[in-house]
Amino acid sequence: MDLMVEGVSIALQRGEELAYPARRISFTVKPGEFLGLVGESGSGKSLTMLALLGLESCSPGVVEGRVRYRSEQGQLYPLEGLSHYVRWHGGLPRKRTAAWQRTVYRRMKPLLGRRIAIILQDAHKTLNPFLRIEDQLLEMVARQGRADAEKAGWWGRWRQRRSIHQQLRQEALRLLKALHFRDPERVLRAYPHQLSGGMAQRVSLALALASRPEFIILDEPTTGLDVTLQAALVDLIRQLKQERRLSGIIVSHDLMFVGKVTERMAIMFSGELWEIGPTHNVIHPDFPWKHPYTSYLLSFARQKRRGSAGPAFQNVLWQRPKQGCPLRKSCPVYLHQLDMEQRRQCDSADPSPVPVFPEHYIRCWQYAWEEQKHAAGY
Ligand code: SF4
Repeated sequence: MDLMVEGVSIALQRGEELAYPARRISFTVKPGEFLGLVGESGSGKSLTMLALLGLESCSPGVVEGRVRYRSEQGQLYPLEGLSHYVRWHGGLPRKRTAAWQRTVYRRMKPLLGRRIAIILQDAHKTLNPFLRIEDQLLEMVARQGRADAEKAGWWGRWRQRRSIHQQLRQEALRLLKALHFRDPERVLRAYPHQLSGGMAQRVSLALALASRPEFIILDEPTTGLDVTLQAALVDLIRQLKQERRLSGIIVSHDLMFVGKVTERMAIMFSGELWEIGPTHNVIHPDFPWKHPYTSYLLSFARQKRRGSAGPAFQNVLWQRPKQGCPLRKSCPVYLHQLDMEQRRQCDSADPSPVPVFPEHYIRCWQYAWEEQKHAAGY
């Protein structure tokens, strides 16, 4: 399955004030590919991910944009034709939120939990607290059985369900073992409250994968996992990509973990994408083109054990300047490297994405100037 996101904006209203925790977000995820959506807490990445499934809980929520899920079975545009639910008055949106959410949910329902799986940061929220892990697995098995046995007679259906049940149970046990559970049978008999945070995280991942999704969204998958379990998760994701052509999004603040399992990476801060490109380019220290915020994240990831990576970037969600680059107050390049004329440019206009490499875009005036120089033959 592939995903296309085009100009999605999510609005948040506080009285007469409006902020965008996600502003004009655009990216694609190709079949068999994983995209890392990386940023610090509060950058808007988790909210963006929920909005792609029609599950965002803020008000008014998504106010514009297009999303397309496409697989061999067809394509789905969950936000198509909904603009009439949003009316703008004096720069503020009036949205019929309930009607919007009902429509998006109705459109997404056939995909959710079947062809698209989601693992939330707090895995205990994904699991039903009143059911044993095995019962939750059986629920999925029953669904899978119903879907796959549509055309068979009752005897065939019964046999098919039974065999699918056994296959999926075996697969879940295999996944639990791959995720380093020493006694997977005991885990299947347990209730969610009997699992630690790290165990619940691995169980919810195994249960999601047992439903054989084509697309998976993982929100902070390393929460509660030690280094060994993180390595096991990396191996499992690589194996699933190879075996099933699984594609997905990994939402995380952990640049190095995301770097091990994704093909492309998008860097998000203050609700906006600043860089998107091949993972190798984005995280490689010697790759010459980097957004100043990506450089900050990389030096933070490398130096967090040894000390500070320099002054942090200031989140401008509610104080976004009306013009100019919103990061300039904390951008070290703006503060220490640019001359007066260049600063004036950063003050006066928002930078647009500039291609620095095939499929690699950076939103920063530095690269727009380089491109202009290159075009002028310097
Ligand atoms: S456009 Fe200017 S202020 Fe913004 S990130 Fe680039 S150098 Fe810094």
